[in-house]
Amino acid sequence: MEETRLIPFEELMRREKPKLLNCIHCGFCLDVCPTYNLTGDESNSPRGRLATWRALSEGRLEPTPMGDFYTMECVGCLACESACPAKVPYGELLYEARHAQVARGGRVHPLLRLTGALLHYTRFFDVLNLPLRLARRLGLARHRFLFPGRPEIFKSTASYAREVVERLQPKGSRVALLSGCLMEGVFREINYATVRVLAVNGVRVEVPEGQACCGAVFEHAGLPGQQSLDARNRGAFAGFETVITNAAGCGLALSHVLPGRTRDLLSFLGTLKLKQGQPLDLDHLYFDIPCHLYHGLKVQKAPPGIFEAIGTPWSYAPEADRCCGSGGTYNITHAHNSRRILEEKSRFLNDVPHARPALVTANHVCMMQWHSAVATGLVRRKVPVLHLVQALDESYRRAGLYAALGA
Ligand code: SF4
Ligand code: SF4
Repeated sequence: MEETRLIPFEELMRREKPKLLNCIHCGFCLDVCPTYNLTGDESNSPRGRLATWRALSEGRLEPTPMGDFYTMECVGCLACESACPAKVPYGELLYEARHAQVARGGRVHPLLRLTGALLHYTRFFDVLNLPLRLARRLGLARHRFLFPGRPEIFKSTASYAREVVERLQPKGSRVALLSGCLMEGVFREINYATVRVLAVNGVRVEVPEGQACCGAVFEHAGLPGQQSLDARNRGAFAGFETVITNAAGCGLALSHVLPGRTRDLLSFLGTLKLKQGQPLDLDHLYFDIPCHLYHGLKVQKAPPGIFEAIGTPWSYAPEADRCCGSGGTYNITHAHNSRRILEEKSRFLNDVPHARPALVTANHVCMMQWHSAVATGLVRRKVPVLHLVQALDESYRRAGLYAALGA
């Protein structure tokens, strides 16, 4: 699939035409599509985008700024894939269409272009993010996307994992963890929680050196240059049968590089006999399933045992399978649309009957998006936003399972 990223759009579309022909124009995908629901514009729907790409592939349409606009307007939530009876591989087509569009000079948001360039320098990217880690740790981070947390400033997740495994001596299966770029650089406390939860449940978790960003931002933005990251990840994770990801978007992207070996943290935890924690100081957890978990990796239910181990009442958030508008990078490239989708999705939190509810999900970008709803007043109460593994981690801390770690 990699070499297609450098060929012209028209040629690419001709190659992808058999997949495009799968579309039977039934329209089952329209109702689930956030951009169609926002605009009522057929061109801004999965069926419309597919029709545009097909017309390009058949030479009935020349590339136009309007066609490019609609290709970039998609959130990339993949809800249309789940709704499609003809199994059109929409996400694959979208990523390839964007790569081809960018290859012939299509615009990329400057912040994404800069991020894409920096992501090749893992250590430098980590150092660049140090001020953000520090600001979050000191409670000084005021940006709407920076949810509260206390990440470690200097010690990497790899070092921490070595310490935890040394102290807890887990005897079960051996897995690798993708530490991620933003997860490691800004939201490291979630990686730490992941390491603790895995190790206390007997998993020998390692964070191999030399790993790189999963490449999700390259897929979303259509940026070139992902191949070198993929090669680094293939090398770093060689020798591991299971590579755990704790962010749904990263998991989906890495599954394209390491198919059959990439495993989302939640589904992996669902295979373990989890230790029991103590209920949280919260009275209800609303679980929202990230799109890339639900529609991409097909983890469509809370894996068994996790909420039971936490011991706090929970339910799915309303329309838990629908996009919150974060869309990987959509809340940066299409902030207005993203906020309108979030407004609709987050409204229920204003009316829930619980005194201390929390919103839990499984992707840091979704957490940023949900926190922005709280920080900007779409949600008119201070609802904490947690990764599900943080909820489990905290319940373990309350149960005293981390005594050996001094945590
Ligand atoms: S990926 Fe989401 S936003 Fe894009 S066409 Fe499909 S349903 Fe619509
Ligand atoms: S649901 Fe599938 S087959 Fe039907 S219009 Fe949408 S993409 Fe085409």
